[in-house]
Amino acid sequence: MLPIGSIIFRGATEMTYTCPVCGFQNLPYPPLDYEICPSCGTEFEYDDARRRHVELRERWVHDGAPWHSIRIPKPYAWNAWVQLLNAGFGESVPLDVSTSFSGSFQETEGSVPESDVREIIVSMR
Ligand SMILES: [Zn+2]
Repeated sequence: MLPIGSIIFRGATEMTYTCPVCGFQNLPYPPLDYEICPSCGTEFEYDDARRRHVELRERWVHDGAPWHSIRIPKPYAWNAWVQLLNAGFGESVPLDVSTSFSGSFQETEGSVPESDVREIIVSMR
């Protein structure tokens, strides 16, 4: 998996950015300028102007790390804990969760591949 803050080049214009709060890796825009992360709901330069990323992450985890956006569908097989681990935020994953990965995922109707989330966010502009 890619380290935090890495940029994936899939072509000249298809960059993705990683959310510094929850580790979501398909943000189409940098985590700046009041962009809102569909995964954790952080509004960049607003929420994170007042609280540190680690605080925002802890609050999100405390709430059960739900998929935030109601407009953007939850990606297929999306799992907040896996996402946090992949982003190097494993210390934020509650112990009782990290020791009991079942390997099964709850799918919601209309789930899309995570890579498509980027396109959906862009298309909503
Ligand atoms: Zn996020």
